[in-house]
Amino acid sequence: MTTTYDAIVVGARCAGSPTAMLLARQGHRVLLLDRARFPSDTLSTLIIQPPGVAALRRWGLLDRVVASGCPPLRSWTLDFGDVKLSGTPRPVAGIDTAYTPRRSVLDAILLDAARDAGAEVREHVNVDGLLTSDGRVTGIRCHGEDGRTVTERARVVIGADGRTSHVAKWVGAPSYHEKPRMQYGYYTFFRGLPVDGITFIIRPGRAIGAIPTGDDLTLVLFGWPIAELPELKSDVEANFWRTLDLAPAFAERVRAATRVEPFVGGGVWNYFRKPYGPGWALVGDAGYNKDPVVPKGISDAFAGAELCAGALDEYFRDGRSYDAAMADYQRVRDERGLPIYEFATQMATLDAPPPEMRRLFAAVGSSQAAMDDFVSVVAGTVSPAEFFAPDNIARIMAGAAAAAMAG
Ligand SMILES: Cc1cc2nc3c(=O)[nH]c(=O)nc-3n(C[C@H](O)[C@H](O)[C@H](O)COP(=O)(O)OP(=O)(O)OC[C@H]3O[C@@H](n4cnc5c(N)ncnc54)[C@H](O)[C@@H]3O)c2cc1C
Repeated sequence: MTTTYDAIVVGARCAGSPTAMLLARQGHRVLLLDRARFPSDTLSTLIIQPPGVAALRRWGLLDRVVASGCPPLRSWTLDFGDVKLSGTPRPVAGIDTAYTPRRSVLDAILLDAARDAGAEVREHVNVDGLLTSDGRVTGIRCHGEDGRTVTERARVVIGADGRTSHVAKWVGAPSYHEKPRMQYGYYTFFRGLPVDGITFIIRPGRAIGAIPTGDDLTLVLFGWPIAELPELKSDVEANFWRTLDLAPAFAERVRAATRVEPFVGGGVWNYFRKPYGPGWALVGDAGYNKDPVVPKGISDAFAGAELCAGALDEYFRDGRSYDAAMADYQRVRDERGLPIYEFATQMATLDAPPPEMRRLFAAVGSSQAAMDDFVSVVAGTVSPAEFFAPDNIARIMAGAAAAAMAG
């Protein structure tokens, strides 16, 4: 059977556009579709962790993000009430900086990069279903503004269509390590609220965050456990102020600023999905999603795009077995993702830290090096597996005990 494209990518944000860009740069024929018209916003806060920034630099796109005017952010603070942990992440590939562009800005840069690389881009096109033959996905059915159904064929159809992925549903992608929604959060933007770096304020059952972006705007978020969702939704604004009042000094500063956008909110299910099968693949949230309490979805979407495009290049160009190449993609994605998945889903319960964790946080707080290491976990540059390794914990506790004796 002849195919028009090597790959059709459904969804053109953090996962789909880089996947299309990388495949097109490798010389493959790519069609990239999204039902949105860009620039387009989406439900997400804004943090691109240092590993994601490193990916943007590798791809030659970092300058465009920096030029959009969002500030470089090197300081992260996690305020647990009795202990406040502030530091700068350990660098990856020489980068310790996060950026926080609006998603309408970032996603448009990524889409343009895919187009510049030679991918054919169609916006405002809805993918309605898959074409199959002998149990293999062979293409898509879609329609654009004129409502006319169009079919397109490819060697592989890639679902980069987010956490409500239809591609994953249509192919019946098996999921594993599933966990329910843990928390539900809202965010909005304030003008005239300068903040120094990225701040998360954690109180039992409540999370607050402040993330500066360009244009003198700061995103302020808050989250509650999912069990309290009906009460949370009953009066979002009143609950926002009630939650902020748990950190009175910050609440006072927010009250002095001007809210400029409505509240938007959401909560996510946590899962891994098998990211490939005959003629299909999944990248980004379509294949792996975790609570944004650890802001890693964008960076992970970038990493998944590189892994998936690399595996497909081996198949298209080198004739490597599709199953072997894609099994490697799944294995590396899962090995890298599982430790932070467990950490994020634990944090997302918003439960008060147990006594041994409070003791650890207190010990971390006695050393700048330990604080830098801890914020690195949240910033995505140190794996929780490395930070929480027994010998590392023992080293931190011993260091804190020695500091207490000396001081
Ligand atoms: C509240 C919240 C806050 C977050 N904060 C952060 C953060 O600060 N940092 C971070 O790294 N991550 C964050 N995340 C996670 C991050 O937003 C996601 O991981 C990331 O957007 C995933 O990108 P994606 O390309 O996989 O999917 P998406 O961004 O969901 O994009 C999917 C695209 O597919 C398109 N699409 C879907 N179905 C079809 C169809 N049938 N036909 C055509 N097009 C289709 C959609 O229009 C959409 O444009 C947050 C998530 C939430 C919910």
